[in-house]
Amino acid sequence: MKSMEKIKDLSLVIPVFNEEENLEELISRCLGVCRKTGCSFEIILVDDGSGDNSTAMISRAASENPDQVVGVLLNRNYGQHAAVVAGLAESCGDVVVTLDADLQNPPEEIPKLLAEIEKGVDVVGTIRTNRRDSFFRKFSSGLVNSMVRRATGVMMHDYGCMLRAYRRPIVEAMLQCPERSTFIPILANSFARSTGEIPVMHEARTRGDSKYSFFKLVSLQFDLLTSMSTFPLRLLSFVGTIIAMSGIAFGVFLLAMRVFMGADWAAQGVFTLFAVLFVFVGAQFIGLGLLGEYIGRIYQDVRARPRYFIQEIVKGPAEQNIQH
Ligand code: UDP
Ligand code: MG
Repeated sequence: MKSMEKIKDLSLVIPVFNEEENLEELISRCLGVCRKTGCSFEIILVDDGSGDNSTAMISRAASENPDQVVGVLLNRNYGQHAAVVAGLAESCGDVVVTLDADLQNPPEEIPKLLAEIEKGVDVVGTIRTNRRDSFFRKFSSGLVNSMVRRATGVMMHDYGCMLRAYRRPIVEAMLQCPERSTFIPILANSFARSTGEIPVMHEARTRGDSKYSFFKLVSLQFDLLTSMSTFPLRLLSFVGTIIAMSGIAFGVFLLAMRVFMGADWAAQGVFTLFAVLFVFVGAQFIGLGLLGEYIGRIYQDVRARPRYFIQEIVKGPAEQNIQH
């Protein structure tokens, strides 16, 4: 089977934003790991508009290791996921591994990912055992992961960890998506025929600070939510229907009580007013939800994701294609 073939070319894609303290160790550890794998490899360092020494360090590493290190220098800061896409666009390996530059994802775990890919899966995700992050980060990440799982069905457990491996067809498919706000792990999964997941070690950040402020994190979560589906828009109609139904039920209940208990019971019509109000509020939500349905469809069209992606076209004399 083709997918069981051994990996020949490996590309590492690493987004770098002000990581001067980590770069030297990162590059030497990655070089060490890649050399041991025995396949030809390239390490693509994407400088996401760093303001420190990182840019110069990347350029130097690229000139010192001309066949192994490639520097992709962006003119300003575009964010981690945009930087990864820039790196993917330059990569040419048949398997691409992404990881963070801050050494929280130990490069020594890469061979495990490759072994999983060699089993024939398209995308390998990772679960961070002994996760070393602040409580707030762990909590919000847990919340998001469970939300994604619910909306997409259980596919993976940890979407936040960027130590991941993708086969070339998946990378090509992702590069054909012209949408602006991408959340790579989810985008990749939407094109994968089969996925694998393995546990990896996670280190605390020893040097430099996290590049995600609270607001950047919130914006990332919204990217994730909207890139996943238009489910939140549909939620409006759902909520509206519930409110309207409860309004109607309340109205019927009031009518019955009025008949049996007399006019005084319903607080002279105040309750009735509430029941009517509920129905109208619900109807408004349903109206909003309907608008949402249209917006959702517009969004899908504007994103213009390819509807399918051909992995391979087999042509030629028939006897070559028939398996004996
Ligand atoms: N990063 C980037 N651009 C940004 C923010 C982060 O390229 O605007 C890179 C950063 O250099 C690191 C990775 O993305 O390699 C993950 O960032 P960080 O470690 O700060 O995130 P955390 O581990 O706190 O989630
Ligand atoms: Mg980090």
